[in-house]
Amino acid sequence: MNLILLGPPGAGKGTQAKRLEQHYGIVQISTGDMLRAEVAAGTELGRQAKAVMASGKLVSDELVIAMLESRIQKPDAAKGFILDGFPRTVAQARALDAMLARLGLKLDRVIELKVDPPALIERIAGRFTCAKCGTGYHDSFKPTAKPGVCDVCGSTEFTRRPDDNRETLTTRLGAYMQQTAPILPHYAASGRLVSVDGMADIDAVSAEIEARLGG
Ligand code: ADP
Ligand code: ADP
Ligand code: ZN
Repeated sequence: MNLILLGPPGAGKGTQAKRLEQHYGIVQISTGDMLRAEVAAGTELGRQAKAVMASGKLVSDELVIAMLESRIQKPDAAKGFILDGFPRTVAQARALDAMLARLGLKLDRVIELKVDPPALIERIAGRFTCAKCGTGYHDSFKPTAKPGVCDVCGSTEFTRRPDDNRETLTTRLGAYMQQTAPILPHYAASGRLVSVDGMADIDAVSAEIEARLGG
């Protein structure tokens, strides 16, 4: 099964992608995570993306499309994938269509997570991640079971994203409304769009997605 998860920053794409990975045995492909890894590794690509990401604007289509195209052809994506954070512009959506056609792959469903802006601000403000295994948490909505210790790997080191602040979030939300939301009609027209209430709690959102995908 090949899926896209769409939604504004903080909607819960990464959280739900991890659950879909487990449930369906498919792999999450997050362009945001890939770009952050490039920045951390100090590669040429990371150097180009760093300032743009810090400002909350989108990295160039050319760069992200090339990165996605090589990732999607890795062997682990052959059993199916969940695109998290891609496509984000009409040009990326078109490039993805062409890429999938060329590779003989089909897109099954596009899941849109709908969440109100005030909830997005709350979610982004409390988001943190295990520095060792990458598990995502939230100060109020998904705390670690034992304070300061990762549930999954036991690490005591956590990171917060430099772009998870109120000012940058305004720019990121603007980018979503102006550049990403216009791709929704494209997928609705082909009957592949599934819109889900992302305001519900994490388990309820997962349950709705699985039900809408047929179990
Ligand atoms: P969020 O999880 O908050 O929606 P991401 O982790 O997906 O954010 O993305 C973080 C930043 O990385 C974006 O603000 C943007 O600068 C860059 N980025 C990620 N994916 C893309 C993409 N498909 N196209 C352009 N820029 C991207
Ligand atoms: P995205 O990948 O769309 O930017 P995340 O999955 O990183 O979003 O979620 C943003 C923050 O909100 C995280 O701290 C996560 O734990 C929390 N979160 C995710 N889904 C929900 C939900 N349904 N209800 C409350 N908090 C949530
Ligand atoms: Zn961990």
